[in-house]
Amino acid sequence: MDVPIDVITMEQAVSRVFSFFETTECHSVYTPNPEIIMAAQKDKALMDALYHASLIVPDGIGVVLASRLLKGPKLPERVAGYDLVQNLFAHMATTDYTVYFLGGAPGVSEEAAKVMQKKYKGLKITGTDHGYFKESEEEAVIQRIQAAKPDLLLVGLGAPKQEKWIEKNRGVLPVKVCIGVGGSFDVMAG
Ligand code: UDP
Repeated sequence: MDVPIDVITMEQAVSRVFSFFETTECHSVYTPNPEIIMAAQKDKALMDALYHASLIVPDGIGVVLASRLLKGPKLPERVAGYDLVQNLFAHMATTDYTVYFLGGAPGVSEEAAKVMQKKYKGLKITGTDHGYFKESEEEAVIQRIQAAKPDLLLVGLGAPKQEKWIEKNRGVLPVKVCIGVGGSFDVMAG
């Protein structure tokens, strides 16, 4: 269905993201499930965002099963966005790499940051912002991210809004990796 998916394991996905931290561009990472792949058939902006990604991993088991039924390379395992981020945090906590949380209802990403900093001692979270900003407030959000200069920006605006937001803005973000994380901040915050 035209959506490219990387044939990699969770462990390989984590090292791939770490290798992006060492580059000078801003890489986008998405974790589509079957719903998003279906939506991309009719949504050119979403398909464009997926095509310009540096890494795409299968969030849903449906995508993994489809690869087993179809001809071509088989996906080794499900690499869920939430789990990928948890694995990244565990490794980042032992480094100086920083992360910024953007998305969720007011207060949620802040709470998620507190919980994650307790869970992963040494994790450096340089800022949080909720995801219900108006268009007129977007510039201020971008300026806060520019000032924080995180290595990793997690964008939890729901799909396909987050994929389009990352694609539109990554040119002006001083960030090495942006990941669309859906409702992950809600789960992190408990
Ligand atoms: N969200 C947001 N801004 C919006 C719309 C949604 O920050 O304008 C957040 C919402 O609070 C939730 C997440 O995006 O945390 C969407 O979660 P959902 O589980 O619906 O997304 P999915 O994981 O299915 O992409």
